[in-house]
Amino acid sequence: MNSYLDQDITYLKGVGSVRAKLLASELGVRTVDDLLNTYPFRHEDRTKIHRICDLTEGMQHVQLRGRIVNFQKLGEGPKRRLVAAFSDGTGFIQLVWFRLSKYLETAYKVGVDYQLFGEPKPFGNHLSIAHPELEELEKVKNRPLLRMQPVYHSTERLDKAHITSRTINELVANALEKLSAPLPETLTPELMREHELVSRDRAIRDLHFSQNAQDVAAARRRLKFEELFFLQLSILQYTKNRKITYAGWPFLKVGSQFNDFYRHHLPFRLTEAQKRVIKEVHADLKSGRQMNRLLQGDVGSGKTMVATLVALLALDNGFQACIMAPTEILAEQHFKGISSQLSPLGLRVELLTGNVKGRRRKTILEGIANGEVQITVGTHALIEPTVAFLNLGLVVIDEQHRFGVKQRAALWQKNSRPPHILVMTATPIPRTLAMTVYGDLDVSVIDQLPPGRKPIVTKHFRSTQRQQLYNGVESELRKGRQVYFVYPLIDENENLDLLALEQGFEAVSEAFAPWKVGKVHGRMKPAEKEEAMRAFSAGEIQILVSTTVIEVGVNVPNASVMVVENAERFGLAQLHQLRGRVGRGAEQSYCILVTKDNLSDNTRQRMEIMVDTNDGFVIAEADMKFRGPGDLEGTAQSGLPFDLKIAHLIGDAALMSEAREAAARIIEADPSENDNRFAVLWSQLHRLRREQQNFSSIS
Ligand code: ADP
Ligand code: MG
Repeated sequence: MNSYLDQDITYLKGVGSVRAKLLASELGVRTVDDLLNTYPFRHEDRTKIHRICDLTEGMQHVQLRGRIVNFQKLGEGPKRRLVAAFSDGTGFIQLVWFRLSKYLETAYKVGVDYQLFGEPKPFGNHLSIAHPELEELEKVKNRPLLRMQPVYHSTERLDKAHITSRTINELVANALEKLSAPLPETLTPELMREHELVSRDRAIRDLHFSQNAQDVAAARRRLKFEELFFLQLSILQYTKNRKITYAGWPFLKVGSQFNDFYRHHLPFRLTEAQKRVIKEVHADLKSGRQMNRLLQGDVGSGKTMVATLVALLALDNGFQACIMAPTEILAEQHFKGISSQLSPLGLRVELLTGNVKGRRRKTILEGIANGEVQITVGTHALIEPTVAFLNLGLVVIDEQHRFGVKQRAALWQKNSRPPHILVMTATPIPRTLAMTVYGDLDVSVIDQLPPGRKPIVTKHFRSTQRQQLYNGVESELRKGRQVYFVYPLIDENENLDLLALEQGFEAVSEAFAPWKVGKVHGRMKPAEKEEAMRAFSAGEIQILVSTTVIEVGVNVPNASVMVVENAERFGLAQLHQLRGRVGRGAEQSYCILVTKDNLSDNTRQRMEIMVDTNDGFVIAEADMKFRGPGDLEGTAQSGLPFDLKIAHLIGDAALMSEAREAAARIIEADPSENDNRFAVLWSQLHRLRREQQNFSSIS
């Protein structure tokens, strides 16, 4: 049975060595089993026959039955095309072919009944279907029609070799025909019952050959669940093993540094969320296991203070701590803030970045090596092998998205036991997703802002309302506040974007003279950038025109207005990050989103969400909905132990939670993989791990 599934597809009816090679290189299909697991990514519903008089713009694929009334060749050169009028008695629709060929000119005949499949698109003032699929009705009637037509992924080379969706579907049929028993089940009967899943055999058959939409949906759900379940099983088991395997330094004491600072020098009362997170971290630190925790907290939620307090816990237990930031500017900012807050304790806190050179660097490195430097703030320069700590116990990594698993792994080598690691991020990711994507990390969330913050007021202006917008900015400037103007610069090499920024800079300088205006963009030298940021931060200039280089972490409490130009070109998460640059002081702050006048529905809705809510999690969810399984999905997926073929991290979040709970129960019930009832699950898990080499352990 299994030996049949493992057989090379070359031996399958309809596959020769040429096709076998192509299927392997283009789709990764080598065995019969691979072929059966090549899932169609969508189905075309061919259960309906539409009437031409009912067709409207925006309809997806439709199926029609009718006749061609006449043909016409139109246009010259590359615009040459064949046009036909098609009628079903309720109306006419135009068919059009752009690539003329001998074959095409004789392929279809006037007066023959056809079944047509295609997508109606507006063309001028009528609807037109380009390159329709046409089959003589007689032939269609004589063959059992697949009513839910599967569409498989294709590639240029497959197209060229005429391996179409239909070909793949036929090959799958050939493969199933020879199957002597139902396909092996990978889930237990209990799981299938509890989660109302059809069998694997049923699911595979229905996905490739089904007659109605419900069957397809049930098949998809079953296969998605399976995928997510094994993903979670793998991640949860891995997480559990990691906790057992890696001993950490137990931080048993809460000592004088922490207590002294907490009781006498804390500049404000901690929020309940900050307290809760510190408790969660503390529980990890005393457990004797190495901590790997992700701290998620919206911009301005006060993550830095958590880092500082946790660092003091390390000191109390005789260890050094370090805090890493993604940029020099941020590292300096953290250093200034933290060292001034901690100054009453008389600790040695140092800054180590690429900018620290010569004697100064040497002294600091010596201090780190002999343990005199207790807290080091820096950039990833800290990971370099030349930085040798006497006794590193804790590493805090700020703004995680710049640090990959590899960098974290490098940190593990900094002491004889790996230091505890706290990763902080303001990129809001829904919790269920975070647990999966950061499967090797435990997650804490600060879901509360410090009290007394005035929520940032967000407004949407069209570019025709610029004067009104400038008046508002002017009145803030008069109150002594500072203002950001941000321009999109998706790719730092895009000259047009830079031009927009330069023009914006001139327009702003002119409109707001004599206020001082500075600019920052990615093409400037680092020293120039830093000088501009410094001048803005020191209040020497009032307006900063910039690209998104300011996105991460700058803290200028006196800046109360963030104007985002061409806001339609930013993602929601990015807009939210930008908005977080203001609202850091006591005054009312504003975020102004400027777009062009005519907006698509999508853009209008996105602007409305920004205006309506300041909640990073709501925005993250919405962002994913709008972008679909795009960007984030890609990045997120790269961190997973298995590739997902049918389930979506974001779109299937609810099923993901269900699968996660199910997987957690199995691991609890059978921690050492001995229970026969679950044997089928463990063997499938190991099979998947063997097959998918990208299982990334950071050990
Ligand atoms: P983020 O989470 O974005 O890193 P920060 O740590 O930079 O946020 O904190 C933002 C600002 O809020 C800082 O000026 C910080 O001093 C202040 N802050 C942090 N926690 C509190 C608190 N509990 N009460 C009042 N202000 C706080
Ligand atoms: Mg921060």
